[in-house]
Amino acid sequence: MKLGIVGLPNVGKSTLFNSLTKAGALAANYPFATIDPNVGVVSVPDERLKKLADLYQSKKVTPAVIEFVDIAGLVKGASKGEGLGNQFLANIRECDAIVHVVRCFEDTNIVHVDGSIDPLRDIETINLELLFSDLEILERRYAKTSKAARMDKSLQKEAAMQERLKEHMEAGNSARTFELLDEDEEAYFKEYGLLTAKPVIYAANVSEDEVANDGADNAGVAAVREFAAKEGSEVFVICAEIEQEIAELDDDEKAMFLEELGMKESGLDKLIKASYSLLGLISYLTSGEDETRAWTITKGTKAPQAAGKIHTDFERGFIKAEVVNFQDLLDCGSTAAAKEKGLVRVEGKEYVVQDGDVILFRFNV
Ligand code: GDP
Repeated sequence: MKLGIVGLPNVGKSTLFNSLTKAGALAANYPFATIDPNVGVVSVPDERLKKLADLYQSKKVTPAVIEFVDIAGLVKGASKGEGLGNQFLANIRECDAIVHVVRCFEDTNIVHVDGSIDPLRDIETINLELLFSDLEILERRYAKTSKAARMDKSLQKEAAMQERLKEHMEAGNSARTFELLDEDEEAYFKEYGLLTAKPVIYAANVSEDEVANDGADNAGVAAVREFAAKEGSEVFVICAEIEQEIAELDDDEKAMFLEELGMKESGLDKLIKASYSLLGLISYLTSGEDETRAWTITKGTKAPQAAGKIHTDFERGFIKAEVVNFQDLLDCGSTAAAKEKGLVRVEGKEYVVQDGDVILFRFNV
């Protein structure tokens, strides 16, 4: 699962990306951690892991991870292939969701490409590039489908939807706000892989003294909030510079620093968690003497497929899952005690795994 960090130049993308990857250094020993400097594997903060590891005296703790990609260089004209524009758009296409960094901080030493601080204009600039790129794809698709539909009536439904979608987007609207009427339409839509259909979180980058009260005094932040609400997107207020400082600290120092700033949790931790849930991801947990670990699945995943995340053999030979809720297990103090209370359930192939399930899989080899 990958999130692309986008935004105009000089808004704080790299600062945010660097602090994300530094804070997530734990994940550096992941086998699939790429060597691409623009891709960072970041661990998802999960308070449950340490508690579970203490309970089982695990030697190792392995958190869930998500990838962030720093997509620098998106500027006006990107969709026309100006600069390396098309390359950036291709990079975004490979991502599952977007973190759109918007500059809300004033700093006369740091130039703004368009000369002034105006978060809404910036959002529009980026969104327009994505929209142009989408429209180009859609127009090509529509030309093909509507032509083929003259011979093949079964394609008429899709052509009609494409026409509606085109109108929607030509009016300046993102694909994510388009209303899909049934499952057929959902299926067509998904296949287009449109950039403006990807879920987005707006990260409003504010100055150090504005972050504690969540940017309440910043007019730009208010405008971003209003805009995001209309398209059903989330807004996060961060100060990328502070996050970079926090990322350098160890856990104790971090707690102290956050308290001084009047923050409960670092902005990054909040952002990572929000990104995880934006992607529809949850974690189930496994624990033993060797390792306590969080495994990432999408909501709605059934037990055998969840087991397959650990090893394909687990999925193929799946027999059953012994499941206990994390909090129940913690309250009982041991698996044995949880079993006595009847809180450890035996679940079969149809069981839909829940966030925070602690699972032991039984399988045939
Ligand atoms: P990018 O081009 O979007 O990747 O932007 P950078 O992360 O390189 O940031 C551009 C400049 O803005 C750098 O000099 C940063 O130190 C500075 N900067 C980033 N975030 C903040 C912030 O929250 N407040 C202030 N004052 N400066 C920031």
